[in-house]
Amino acid sequence: MTAHPASDDLASFWMPFTANRQFKSAPRLLVSARGMYYRASDGREVLDGCAGLWCVNAGHCRDEIVAAVQQTAASLDYAPPFQMGHPLAFEAAAKVAKVMPAGLDRVFFTNSGSEAVDTALKIALAYHRARGEGQRTRLIGRERGYHGVGFGGISVGGISPNRKAFSGSLLGNVDHLPHTHNLEQNAFSKGQPAWGAHLADELERLVMLHDPSTIAAVIVEPVAGSTGVLIPPQGYLQRLREICTKHGILLIFDEVITGFGRLGRATASEFLGVTPDLITLAKAINNAAVPMGAVAASRKVHDAIVESGLPGAIELFHGYTYSAHPVASAAAIATQDVYRKEDLFARAGRLAPVFERAAHALADAPYVKDIRNLGLVAGIELESRADAPGARAYEVFVKCFEAGVLVRYTGDIVAFSPPLIVEEEQIEKIFGTVRKVLATVQ
Ligand code: PMP
Repeated sequence: MTAHPASDDLASFWMPFTANRQFKSAPRLLVSARGMYYRASDGREVLDGCAGLWCVNAGHCRDEIVAAVQQTAASLDYAPPFQMGHPLAFEAAAKVAKVMPAGLDRVFFTNSGSEAVDTALKIALAYHRARGEGQRTRLIGRERGYHGVGFGGISVGGISPNRKAFSGSLLGNVDHLPHTHNLEQNAFSKGQPAWGAHLADELERLVMLHDPSTIAAVIVEPVAGSTGVLIPPQGYLQRLREICTKHGILLIFDEVITGFGRLGRATASEFLGVTPDLITLAKAINNAAVPMGAVAASRKVHDAIVESGLPGAIELFHGYTYSAHPVASAAAIATQDVYRKEDLFARAGRLAPVFERAAHALADAPYVKDIRNLGLVAGIELESRADAPGARAYEVFVKCFEAGVLVRYTGDIVAFSPPLIVEEEQIEKIFGTVRKVLATVQ
């Protein structure tokens, strides 16, 4: 396909999470990338304010990662992961384990965040069964949570359009905590809002309703991303941890977005000082160079399953043809080396106050209803148009792209998560462009 495809050439690709007809009438195509920039098919440079899709944390097309991918593709294209192995898989797992919170050093590889979520939910069920508590089958997610698109993920997830068409076939044994977003209490909070820790006590209520002995796991995103950047209230996650521990329930943090430096530390768990039993990962694990996801499990969970099996028998009936694919593993090793050598997580932490100032400078811009931020992630919520909810943030997204800046939108929220290599002037450019665009939207 050429850089400027004719509309017929666009027909075959059924695009994910896209208004296909609208997109194909005015496509936005990216043809190359380097560092902080994409190049669009019409030749324009586009500053990446989203790290692609919250994933290219080291910046685009890093030489070290490209070389690792190329070399591995040429030397070990594939190796079966069941009852077989290859050294890169073990090295990648060890490198990921090294930056996980203490004790969460057993790594199960998947190919995406959605698969990581379904894997973590299955591991939670298998853990309880291995310990003789197979009646613990209930899963608890949260309203507005996004946990990918597998049936497990949409069942524990809480974004209604993602569930609606499939609602007859969602997992049955699932409940949801309330989300923590409250504009009356928390609008324009910088960092973690002071109000809302008590919402975690809803977990205690659900536990009592169903009886603790029936509950397997609670899954939340420490910072909810895809629903529009919801920052956890101070003390909220600590309280969830206490309640889970008290009742023998596993706590899963979905760190597909927050993993690998987004908040200024390797994980949100480390940044916020709350350690779950399982962490789901993907995206920045290998700088999104090749599809890869993972679950980091505590030794307690891993050992209960692996040691419960009979010697010589498979312990967990779960895995993917491409689990720990050699090329994805090589990219993960190279990516983790870049993060460490350039100290990129700490860099994100140092830039966070600059990012916060630049985001909150938009408080007086037209239609801005709330601004939320933590580390290098931010969301700006706009007043919705009465006739077309979501249309205003979409217009911002399209006009920013035309003005040479990539932002994300979800509902009427514009989201920001630049690569961790972003420079201060680029942060100003991203938010400055949004300010200019907001002056022109309907
Ligand atoms: N969990 C979270 C928190 C996510 O943000 C995402 C993707 N945005 C996923 C899971 C799903 O990941 P994937 O799209 O790789 O399946």
